[in-house]
Amino acid sequence: MKRALFLDRDGVINRRIVGGYVRSWEEFELLPGITETLPAMHAAGWFTVLVTNQRGIALGQMSERDLLEIHERMQQELRRQCGHELDAIYYCPHEKGDACGCRKPQPGMLLDAARDNEINLSASWMIGDSESDIEAGRGAGCGTIRIADADEPTAADHHVRSLLEAWSLIAGFV
Ligand SMILES: [Mg+2]
Ligand SMILES: [Zn+2]
Repeated sequence: MKRALFLDRDGVINRRIVGGYVRSWEEFELLPGITETLPAMHAAGWFTVLVTNQRGIALGQMSERDLLEIHERMQQELRRQCGHELDAIYYCPHEKGDACGCRKPQPGMLLDAARDNEINLSASWMIGDSESDIEAGRGAGCGTIRIADADEPTAADHHVRSLLEAWSLIAGFV
């Protein structure tokens, strides 16, 4: 069984567009943190899984093909910058009211990833910048780390300011 780091995308891997969606590669801006930490995550034996809500597809702001292209370019860019890419990518293209089971705060994407990749959820972590990420992580039985600037109230096990800090925390536990 693998242990995984489930990573939210917007606000963790790349800069979040407040009030909008990243609809093309031109709008995708890697945040500092992932290229510095991904090689270390892999070296320590963590399986890395992107879990992202992409409701912009349901809203018709982009196509599923646009999203797949963004993710392909993201993986290329990660490989180019740090020699590593994310091990798996799961996304929810649905609308809030769709009751799909995969849209965070539902834990569906984490449960699917665990089934597909033999992941031990209780030995895994969900890292995200929204409380819905934390809820999904808790629902799947993972440890949870919230990345946020301000001291917002959170149900997460830990609260940090950056992905770098989240990784320091995890690396210090094992
Ligand atoms: Mg986010
Ligand atoms: Zn969904």
